[in-house]
Amino acid sequence: MNGSIDFDIVVVGGGIVGLATAYKITLSHPDIRIAVLEKEEKLASHQTGYNSGVIHSGLYYKPGSSKAKTCTKGRKELISFAKKYKIPHEICGKIIVATHQKELPHLDRIFENGCENEIEGIEKISAQKIKEIEPSSNGIAGILVPCTGIIDFVKVVEKLGALIVKKEGNIVLTSHEVKGFDKHDFYTNVSTNEGSFSTKYVINCAGLQSDRIAKADGLWPDVRIIPFRGDFYELTSDAQEKVKHLIYPVPDPTFPFLGVHFTRMINDTVECGPNAVFSFKREGYGKTDFDFTDTWESLSYLGTWKMFLRHFRFGVSEYARAFSKKLFLRSLQRLIPSLGYDDIKQCKTGVRAQAVAKNGRPVDDFKIEKGKNSIHVLNAPSPAATASLAIGEYINEIATGHFKLGKNENKKI
Ligand SMILES: Cc1cc2nc3c(=O)[nH]c(=O)nc-3n(C[C@H](O)[C@H](O)[C@H](O)COP(=O)(O)OP(=O)(O)OC[C@H]3O[C@@H](n4cnc5c(N)ncnc54)[C@H](O)[C@@H]3O)c2cc1C
Repeated sequence: MNGSIDFDIVVVGGGIVGLATAYKITLSHPDIRIAVLEKEEKLASHQTGYNSGVIHSGLYYKPGSSKAKTCTKGRKELISFAKKYKIPHEICGKIIVATHQKELPHLDRIFENGCENEIEGIEKISAQKIKEIEPSSNGIAGILVPCTGIIDFVKVVEKLGALIVKKEGNIVLTSHEVKGFDKHDFYTNVSTNEGSFSTKYVINCAGLQSDRIAKADGLWPDVRIIPFRGDFYELTSDAQEKVKHLIYPVPDPTFPFLGVHFTRMINDTVECGPNAVFSFKREGYGKTDFDFTDTWESLSYLGTWKMFLRHFRFGVSEYARAFSKKLFLRSLQRLIPSLGYDDIKQCKTGVRAQAVAKNGRPVDDFKIEKGKNSIHVLNAPSPAATASLAIGEYINEIATGHFKLGKNENKKI
């Protein structure tokens, strides 16, 4: 490689996708130098650090989609990684619970989908079995998914960071915000608030900012990131015994990412949520947070209005739940009827980066595009944390071809 160029690859974004990508490329191409640049003081400061901490099975995703393929593969790899590096995790299983007759056909479809995706050990369960597994839950039928688990994703990211910098020449820098790119034929100067870095190639894993980074690199993505805030409540210590593991509702087929659920976290607290409301700030974690540029970019995009019009009723009910603990509680009581007003208290909030197409449809699958000497991850919603190591491997394959990286045997780092 040219000695005057600082790095071979700069990865923008220190979330789980950026770190998993840098890790996989380091394993596959140990001779190249990688810099991961993260704008916040800590890694995993956005989606990865505010998620539900669930290792998803891969049950719901369309067979053959990138989500389906990478979730199952990534889950298995994530569990081996967690075992090897002693990262707190538990394969506790989850149940999906139907509480109304009208949900039964969709419950059956989910089960069939799970079989097609070859999810290990899934089982249809009766109301009685639901009671045995989760005595406080109320269901008429369900699915047991034994391979679902919980994990501390922030610890996964920290470990990946430590492994990446173990390789001489690699760096992971926090408090380095990428501001723009000065592109030349064979290299790019990446400017940050802390000076500029020259690199042969750029990989954009900037989550909530990924469309902007793509534009700064000269792409005109056919999607825009629209932020959706998700509020979580947690059960008080007295109410925690009402949830043994993970309890999910049957998702609405139109909005599979909606539907509040109960998650016993790896630190033994029980979180419930999230809802999903349009956010007026991409990195806004407060209910009334507002940013003019973010709001303007969302609302000046036709796709946003088309999405609002199509899903108006759901949008309004999600908003109502965001501002009313009573309504939030009511949706939780569908799964656990004995839950009372004083059993839940508000805890964290997360913001999802959802790519929305010009026709107003949220992009369901992962979306990765190539630019000149660059690769852009433009949509990596859930289960991207579960699937991260498989996504990282997939991006490594794209990078190997697109950047014509020399192939090396996998080496230990
Ligand atoms: C509420 C919620 C619950 C979820 N639950 C689950 C779950 O249980 N299981 C699961 O598998 N998935 C879950 N997900 C999805 C999962 O968390 C995300 O898909 C995943 O974390 C995406 O990782 P990422 O690295 O792409 O994005 P991020 O984690 O958002 O990382 C992107 C990083 O890029 C940085 N960045 C942005 N711009 C710049 C710049 N200009 N310069 C430098 N750095 C920059 C950001 O600061 C950020 O750290 C959930 C998501 C949310 C929001």
